[in-house]
Amino acid sequence: IVIAPAQLQQQQITLTSQQQHYLMRVLRLRQGDRFIAMDGKGQWWLAVLAETTAQILEQMQVQTELPVEITLMVALPKGNGFDEVVRACTELGVNCFAPVTSDRTLLHPSPQKLERWRRIAAEAAEQSERQIVPTILDPVPFNKGLLSVTGDRKYICVARGNAPHLIASLQSIPPSPPYQGGLEGSIVIATGAEGGWTTNEVENAIASEFQPVSLGKRILRAVTAPIVAVSQISAIVEI
Ligand code: SAM
Repeated sequence: IVIAPAQLQQQQITLTSQQQHYLMRVLRLRQGDRFIAMDGKGQWWLAVLAETTAQILEQMQVQTELPVEITLMVALPKGNGFDEVVRACTELGVNCFAPVTSDRTLLHPSPQKLERWRRIAAEAAEQSERQIVPTILDPVPFNKGLLSVTGDRKYICVARGNAPHLIASLQSIPPSPPYQGGLEGSIVIATGAEGGWTTNEVENAIASEFQPVSLGKRILRAVTAPIVAVSQISAIVEI
């Protein structure tokens, strides 16, 4: 479970009623059973359940995070499509989601959506045994998002044209010596909504040092494209 700093005092965790429900009713743990608590910022503890509280037994040294920080900028898909993007891409290792509204975005999200996405990210990070719960930024117009995200390498996925494949672009970056596998640093990758990007948006992205890339010859759905993009990056950086 993910705990807030205020819940932890002198090696004791005060569990919220939701956490008690999750541990005892969903996971069926009993008093004395062990579970993992995390702060979502890199720390993990082994804890033992004692009804409304839990006692920390030890701090755990684990590392399941990718060697690069990925910021995923997504022009919001329609309906609840972004829920699936957040869930799957958290499992795959994204550090930060930057939802944006683009010229062809149909969804203009309510504040409740943002809360929901943050909850989904926390649950997915727990389930994937990550150390980091990804950040979800407030949705902003695409052109504003372009200026606010930072990364060593920035890519915009374009479904048509002759852009180089994302994997070829990633492989063309020489690793900085001494080579320890994978790449280091940070990557920003942007995917469009159902109607794709306008020419103007792609030009603005290029002016902000984004490189257009392809994910392959088939046109992927707005929900599938970010999941494929992050899968390709994670495969390249982990092997
Ligand atoms: N009708 C749109 C077009 O022609 O651009 C298709 C948009 S596609 C459903 C939604 C988004 O997924 C695109 O804007 C792009 O970011 C990404 N995408 C889908 N397939 C892709 C591919 N094969 N290569 C790169 N990006 C892709």
